[in-house]
Amino acid sequence: MPTADAFESQRLRRDSSLDADRADLYGGLNVIAPPKHLIDPSRNFEFNPNNTMVTDPVSSDATSSYEGDSSQVTTPLSTPSTVTSSDFAFAFDIDGVLVRGGQPIPEAVQAMKYINGENPYGVKVPYVFLTNGGGKSEEERCADLSRQLEMEICPGQFICGHTPMREMAEQYNTVLVVGGEGEKCRGVAEGYGFKNVITPGDIIKTRNDTTPWRRLTDEENENSRKIDLENTQIEAIFVFADSRDWAGDQQIILDILMTVEGKLGTRSEVFNEGPPCFFSHNDVIWSTSHEHSRIGMGALKTSLEAVYNAITGKDLNTFAFGKPQMSTFTFATKLLQDWRQDSHGIDKPPSTVYFIGDTPESDIRGTNEFNNKSEIDWYSILVKTGVWQDKTIPRYPPRKICDNVYDAIKFAIEREQQKSINSGTTIQNIQKKREGLQN
Ligand SMILES: [Mg+2]
Repeated sequence: MPTADAFESQRLRRDSSLDADRADLYGGLNVIAPPKHLIDPSRNFEFNPNNTMVTDPVSSDATSSYEGDSSQVTTPLSTPSTVTSSDFAFAFDIDGVLVRGGQPIPEAVQAMKYINGENPYGVKVPYVFLTNGGGKSEEERCADLSRQLEMEICPGQFICGHTPMREMAEQYNTVLVVGGEGEKCRGVAEGYGFKNVITPGDIIKTRNDTTPWRRLTDEENENSRKIDLENTQIEAIFVFADSRDWAGDQQIILDILMTVEGKLGTRSEVFNEGPPCFFSHNDVIWSTSHEHSRIGMGALKTSLEAVYNAITGKDLNTFAFGKPQMSTFTFATKLLQDWRQDSHGIDKPPSTVYFIGDTPESDIRGTNEFNNKSEIDWYSILVKTGVWQDKTIPRYPPRKICDNVYDAIKFAIEREQQKSINSGTTIQNIQKKREGLQN
């Protein structure tokens, strides 16, 4: 396990070396205009077709582009203009960072205002959300988060644990979908394009001795569908969200895993012929309103593997999406690229993405490992408002620890500002150079 000293030395070493690399990797300009169609008509932005700089001529004299400069954040102007940084971005975990127990963390609303321009530099920074949570459609989850954070959040900024499962709808026709409230995950799966979605409720309704101690409620019975147990072949199992009934859901998943190729009327003799089983993430614990972390989907996955081994003597190979999987961070990189392009007109990658999370095992591990293979500097920040307990050494050390999300984004923006000052490319400096040339 890394020591605090090792953590600090790693952080210092990486900071200096990465800064040097970035200057070589990414030239170009620091702030950028949103596409004209996305500009608030109440503000008179001047759009530079070279996608190099945005300024607000109403509130600032800086109306031209500054080609050839490479600063990252503007310095405060006498009357701050709102500018969007093209050189860095944020990615947020949600539970334990912005929201806890369904309520916004106190500093979260303030933090989002800060990142949207209410800061001393008048800078806006593009951002996306990367949560292992799920159980609702991306659209519904964005509506919840918009309400909690008092701002508009678009599905184009949002990845939840099961979002990558969308890519598998073409591959599997008949699937078992587990977890979440009521019928919501069936709806999400059908929205992803899965053609024949079966739930544990369907199986219990068809044969109620499948789960000896579980009976469907009237509502569940109403919503569940009878199926042909003898002639149904489950091609894959997807655990979309946390199970509300571990015993019943595990029984049904185990039954299917022990079939021959998912055919419900069969039982394998070798116990390695079942369909694949996918989980939307592997977080063993997560942060809720309770003072101690609660067990989650990763705990169910661990339990299922142990029970499968106890019954069959065979190891069960399951698959998990979500953080810390590299595929999820690759997905997030693409999402961020699309979001920056579509909403801000930025057509180059950021030099740095600050990832703010509360769980060392998923948020920090994933960010650090992805950083090792990414041309973009993925910079991990751990906050104290969720799973990780202060005064313990994180199992996967972040490059920075902050009290909360507000402190984290202030740290990141100040860090970027300091880099700009060091390179002499702040907006103020650029303005002074231009004025000198004109005189
Ligand atoms: Mg979290």
